[in-house]
Amino acid sequence: MPTTPAQAANRPKPKVPYMQNNFMDLPKPVVPRVENRKLLKGQKAIVTGASSGIGRSIALALGHAGADICINYVAGEDKAKAMVDELRGHGHTAFSFRADVSNENDVAKMFEAVRDEFGTVDILINNAGLQSDASFDEMTLAQWNRVIGVNLTGQFLCAREAVREFKRRGVRPEISCAAGKIICVSSVHEVIPWAGHVNYAASKGGVMLMMKSIAQEVAPYRIRVNSIAPGAIRTPINMQAWDTPAHYRELLKLIPYKRIGEPEEIGRAAVWLASDESDYVQGTTLFVDGGMTLYPGFETGG
Ligand code: NAD
Repeated sequence: MPTTPAQAANRPKPKVPYMQNNFMDLPKPVVPRVENRKLLKGQKAIVTGASSGIGRSIALALGHAGADICINYVAGEDKAKAMVDELRGHGHTAFSFRADVSNENDVAKMFEAVRDEFGTVDILINNAGLQSDASFDEMTLAQWNRVIGVNLTGQFLCAREAVREFKRRGVRPEISCAAGKIICVSSVHEVIPWAGHVNYAASKGGVMLMMKSIAQEVAPYRIRVNSIAPGAIRTPINMQAWDTPAHYRELLKLIPYKRIGEPEEIGRAAVWLASDESDYVQGTTLFVDGGMTLYPGFETGG
């Protein structure tokens, strides 16, 4: 028999301690420390948008795992150079290259430069992305095109160059089981609709099916294509969600694990997805989101 609204209202609710207490009374978040292994020794990687936030952490993590890195940036040459110095300071090999990922010519030149410098490319991290928010009826075509241009077309252009290079070169078993790996940095908004950010959610939803379709097409060439979908990660792109205790408290309502994610956690996921440890993982999205996609509104039973 269906539950009546009155019965539903009387149904016992799961006990969720933070509903009574302050979020800050919960166990103090501990961000894990993990052993550094050279899972990507001898591999050559391009990380787009690598001079800040998640891209920066991915570049560092890949470097620590033994890969040589091209730091792609579109603006802020000083930050990109600082990033290269930091990698070199750790004994890693790196150089920076300016390219707008939404520009076909720039992307072709970047891959040419990486082939000149490193000989080939084994790993592409499609990370560059941006937001340009507006309520839907006020969103300009320029805002729509810019976000789709960088977040979706940019990932297409870089992935296409990478697949061309992977097919040309093929598998080198001493380096990796795969001819190449592409990791698209997507977002929980590839599945969660986002009012006020229609262009962004559309771009990430597009990345999801682009990634899966490329993965299906190139799998027989031993090319692996996957995504990482971060939840709320502490970077400049979403600073307004964590810059004050009040904002942070609001944010935690959306995260069952009750802490924000750190960029290093995306770096670790990227190392694993790019390594042979995940060799049988193809065309999937790894959500790194503290449970944000678990419908947190239902934590108390709905
Ligand atoms: P960020 O702003 O620090 O990094 C984005 C980087 O992309 C910047 O370095 C920027 O200069 C670069 N970029 C922008 N346009 C570019 C272009 N045309 N060509 C080359 N580079 C360009 O923000 P972030 O949080 O590190 O974002 C990285 C990726 O992670 C984005 O794709 C974003 O959508 C995604 N993401 C972030 C979060 C989060 O909570 N921070 C959550 C989900 C997804």
